[in-house]
Amino acid sequence: MDTLVTKAGELLNSAAAVFDQIVVAGSRLESTLSPAAMNVVKGIMGNDVLSAGFFLMIIGSSYTFFKDLIVGYYNEVQSWFYVSIIVQEGDQLYNWLSDWVAERPLTKSIRHLSVKTVWAENDEDMDYFDDGDEERPKLVYAPGSGSHVLYHMGYKISVSRDSPEQESSEDDDMRNRILKKQSITISTVGWDMSLLKMIVQDAMEKSYKKKAGKTTIYSTQPFDSYWSNSETRAPRAFHSVILAKGLKEELLSDITMFRKSARWYHDRGIPYRRGYLLHGPPGTGKTSFIVALAGHLRMNVCIVNLGISGFNDKQLNQLLNSAPRNSILLMEDVDAALIKRKAGKVQEGENNVTLSGILNSLDGITAQEGSVVFMTTNHIRKLAPALIRPGRCDRKLLFDYADEHQIRGMCLKFLLSRSASGHLTTDPLRKGETEPEEIDPKEQARMDAYDAHVHEVADQVCQKITHKDSVTTAQLQAFFMLHRESPDTIVEAIPGFLKEIARE
Ligand code: ADP
Repeated sequence: MDTLVTKAGELLNSAAAVFDQIVVAGSRLESTLSPAAMNVVKGIMGNDVLSAGFFLMIIGSSYTFFKDLIVGYYNEVQSWFYVSIIVQEGDQLYNWLSDWVAERPLTKSIRHLSVKTVWAENDEDMDYFDDGDEERPKLVYAPGSGSHVLYHMGYKISVSRDSPEQESSEDDDMRNRILKKQSITISTVGWDMSLLKMIVQDAMEKSYKKKAGKTTIYSTQPFDSYWSNSETRAPRAFHSVILAKGLKEELLSDITMFRKSARWYHDRGIPYRRGYLLHGPPGTGKTSFIVALAGHLRMNVCIVNLGISGFNDKQLNQLLNSAPRNSILLMEDVDAALIKRKAGKVQEGENNVTLSGILNSLDGITAQEGSVVFMTTNHIRKLAPALIRPGRCDRKLLFDYADEHQIRGMCLKFLLSRSASGHLTTDPLRKGETEPEEIDPKEQARMDAYDAHVHEVADQVCQKITHKDSVTTAQLQAFFMLHRESPDTIVEAIPGFLKEIARE
């Protein structure tokens, strides 16, 4: 109450000060104006019409002044009665708090909602084509822009989500627009912050629990200099990616060794980071491998695609340096931006990364201890030597057209009745059917005979499709998916498949 009285006193003092200012300004005007100018002022005052206008002008500006003063004080007075916490987009907490808010039951008073699509979790091998009735995402509603009221542990919590206006730069160019970040404010009546702090802590804990044992893939949109999208999913089974013999194991042991060698790097004063370049034709499993590797190592992945225009050097630098901890950084199509620039396709003023921008960003990442950076490209020859010299890129690995080991592996992966992990192959078309705990001996014998037949088919497939045919693992995936129910027809379908590929 005391503070209220003090503030009211301050308000009166301010008003008195304003009147004093007006009086002082009047006397100053008289002393500074020349006699001729003073005559003009007196003329105005002497003229009924002009003085009435002048009077209205004074009233108008005083009204605006006092209104601003009162609104300002009203906001301040109001802020004495509640506590609040604000979180800005760009910080991970923004997404955690958004999810926390979205999980609260919506009260009837909320009339403006935001909605996003969320996919249900898939089985271990996620990349299948479902030619049945297409699965739909879940629609998740949350309070939209503006202020809303929620209840938590019996307390009333106000949530306000602010979407700032987008400011345009001088030339109003989309590529140069400055996107201001959104924010969420939670507030509650009283002076005690502990409830709000508990909510923030709870939002973080819930998010970590949800992510445990899963892979979070962070990505971004052009023009954003922070990881604006994230998707948490079951880790992709490491055995589901089939690479040339020994390549997967070699890469895994290299990276595992690196992750254990922090001390070794420190003792020798070497920046503790490791860079890999995966190169080769599209559809050979570069991205799939990195995502599966991250899942295997219980890491996350931050993906930035440099082939998409809209990134400039500064944004790239900010992005790479704000990657969430324990993440593999993946720079996809690292050649694309530079090729475009060389070919003169980049228009004047277009946002795009430059070679020196990429180099600076890569070198800057050393600030983050234990960084693992993967770059992918379809055209290694087009890359500048500076980009792939050791230190920036320690290992260069070719992901080539499928060899015999991969052709056999892909064939068995889609046709065998049990996957490499020993489980029954999960067929998306038979979703919902549960795997029996114990298999009937007769059924077991039938499956063994079937799998023996599939192995014979795989032998024949390997005679018909060879590395020389330049088939990618992605193309093999599509082919074996199509014939997964009918191993007998596969071999005769191969010539048509190869012809089709040659045409692509
Ligand atoms: P890239 O990054 O080399 O262009 P992707 O990893 O994006 O290739 O692969 C595209 C699709 O093909 C994915 O659905 C993936 O599951 C499949 N695929 C490609 N290569 C492999 C592989 N070596 N092992 C398993 N699946 C693969």
